[in-house]
Amino acid sequence: KIAVVGSINLDLVVPVPRHPRPGETVLGGDLVEHPGGKGANQAVAAARLGVSVAMLGRVGADDAGARLRRVLDLEGVDTTRVLPVDGLPTGRALIAVDHTSGENSIIVSPGANTALSPEHCASEGALLRDAAVTLLQHEIPPETVAAAARLAGGTVLLNPAPARELTLDLLHMVDILVPNREELASLVGRPLPDLHAVADAARQLLGPTAVVVTLGADGALLCEDGAVAFVPPHPVTPLDTTAAGDAFCGALACGLVEGLGLHEAVRRANVAAALSTTLPGAQPSLPTRAEVAGALGE
Ligand code: ADP
Repeated sequence: KIAVVGSINLDLVVPVPRHPRPGETVLGGDLVEHPGGKGANQAVAAARLGVSVAMLGRVGADDAGARLRRVLDLEGVDTTRVLPVDGLPTGRALIAVDHTSGENSIIVSPGANTALSPEHCASEGALLRDAAVTLLQHEIPPETVAAAARLAGGTVLLNPAPARELTLDLLHMVDILVPNREELASLVGRPLPDLHAVADAARQLLGPTAVVVTLGADGALLCEDGAVAFVPPHPVTPLDTTAAGDAFCGALACGLVEGLGLHEAVRRANVAAALSTTLPGAQPSLPTRAEVAGALGE
């Protein structure tokens, strides 16, 4: 089983002709609402691949929260530990998409996600102890991430997104760290102009057993015991790369639960993530097990 301790958000997406400057108003197109949040996206990504997933999270006691929970239920995610909190709204992401360049600017309002506490992790100790993989991201309080990592009995996979500082303490509790290139650059505090620099930075991060760096159209880099391997991308024509990283993390966790070696799990995660870029949206674009198998010619 996979335990996801993470965020649940409603994404509010508006196409804009260009991003507004401070003090400026821009008229956008029609608002579209999608279920989102890195935690929920990764939970759905893994569930679509056919593994058992339980989520620990918080939503507001509002319509959005009830809706998001229902969406997770329909995807087969165990939501018995997704509870509403009083007094805080469901988390939301306000996303403006430039309709010519496709570039996003995002404001996340975490709302109820901030109420997910170390105590909630402690009271779900049995789930975390028994899960083969505990999947974590940075859209919940840092102390909650640390508590979940400490209580986890299986492999701890941390996707350090969005970028924020990582304590050495937490780094040592993580088994597999999965940053994208920008998050890795922020962790080592310098720009990473080429793949050599990425490999050096991944080698430098001591603590986790392995570092898997997602490289967009370049696939991924796996650094294990100081040895670096590039895992080539699955070739696609991307349409919308929203949640590609989430598709990757969910699929990687799934591969590990199924007992694949790390290299093979990364290879499959590249395929799942690539497929997710060929359809619009975050959760709607996440591939099923049959779709991944089809792409692999199995
Ligand atoms: P994020 O979405 O977090 O910024 P990346 O851009 O690194 O993360 O993408 C995550 C993964 O999605 C990559 O490691 C790769 O497997 C897949 N991916 C993203 N863009 C492409 C692409 N253009 N072609 C093939 N695979 C892609």
